[in-house]
Amino acid sequence: MATGKMTERVKCLIIGSGPAGYTAAIYAARANLAPVLYTGLRAGGQLTTTTEVENFPGYPEGVTGPVMMEDMRKQAERFGTNIRFGIVTSVDFSAAPREVTIDGGQTIAADAIIIATGATARYLGLPSEERFRGSGVSACATCDGFFYRGKDVAVVGGGDTACEEAIYLSGLCREVHLIVRKNHLRASKVMQQRVFDAPNINVLFEHNTVELFGTDMGLEGVRLARRAGEPDASFTEIRVDGFFLAIGHVPNTDIFKEYLQLDAAGYIITEGTSTRTNVPGVFAAGDVMDPVYRQGITSAASGCKAAIDAERYLVMGC
Ligand code: NDP
Repeated sequence: MATGKMTERVKCLIIGSGPAGYTAAIYAARANLAPVLYTGLRAGGQLTTTTEVENFPGYPEGVTGPVMMEDMRKQAERFGTNIRFGIVTSVDFSAAPREVTIDGGQTIAADAIIIATGATARYLGLPSEERFRGSGVSACATCDGFFYRGKDVAVVGGGDTACEEAIYLSGLCREVHLIVRKNHLRASKVMQQRVFDAPNINVLFEHNTVELFGTDMGLEGVRLARRAGEPDASFTEIRVDGFFLAIGHVPNTDIFKEYLQLDAAGYIITEGTSTRTNVPGVFAAGDVMDPVYRQGITSAASGCKAAIDAERYLVMGC
């Protein structure tokens, strides 16, 4: 335990406010664990950057991501979850009770901790991408698409996210170029069909982004390589004002890596079908431990499991 500073003691601490965090909070609060939940930087998590959610059971007409997350927050609060805005900046899991530091200052000791910190959008890693971040480059069409109304944009990626972003942008922008590195989309058939049906989405298969260009005023276009390395390789430029990344995510596990077992991609490893990590009393739920399913509903389900696992641990010590 830290000495010389005020340490708040809580029974159950939940880190993260996506479907996993809020569902864990609903279950933990109803089990009298008096959960304290820290939202992280983006309260509501990744779903707040989504448009329509059509596959979460219970919403026959669909629901927007932000509305669904607001509903979950209210439900968690209704049963007494103490929801706080703040970021866990470091942890000390070397002894029980486990400790976390909030915003680099206050320390909290918790008997059980549920990690539901989710994952963050991946970038290509081009220096020119860095240059135009915030002035043309974005990883969230729902957040930033509005700025490109009537303009031409590009989306990179071939999964469900890329298709969803392209479809959303096609309703706002003049033309949307979907840059796909393979000769096929990885997205579900229904999303693919929507992309192919949209009159203003131009799918560029077998294209890779080489460089972004523009001025200090912002992005002006993208240089692309088609079938790079092949005998018929070619290079083109497209003029776009916006460039949206949709190439997957990285789990938010940096602050835990000293203590928790992670897989090669950085996801927290849990024991069997449980949410138990290698540290007793520390549980993981949602996208932070799930490289496979990564759905709102599967995250919510693992949040539920984490709260039940935490309750068992607190009551029975296992
Ligand atoms: P995915 O991992 O499914 O897809 C990532 C895409 O980005 C792939 O097409 C991949 O190409 C491409 N990619 C990766 N790295 C690069 C790179 N360096 N350059 C160019 N392209 C690259 O991520 P998503 O975010 O799309 O989806 C994650 C999960 O969430 C999936 O399970 C998906 O089904 C789900 N999802 C569901 C939605 C829904 O049901 N409404 C909406 C959004 C997501 P390649 O195919 O060549 O590997």
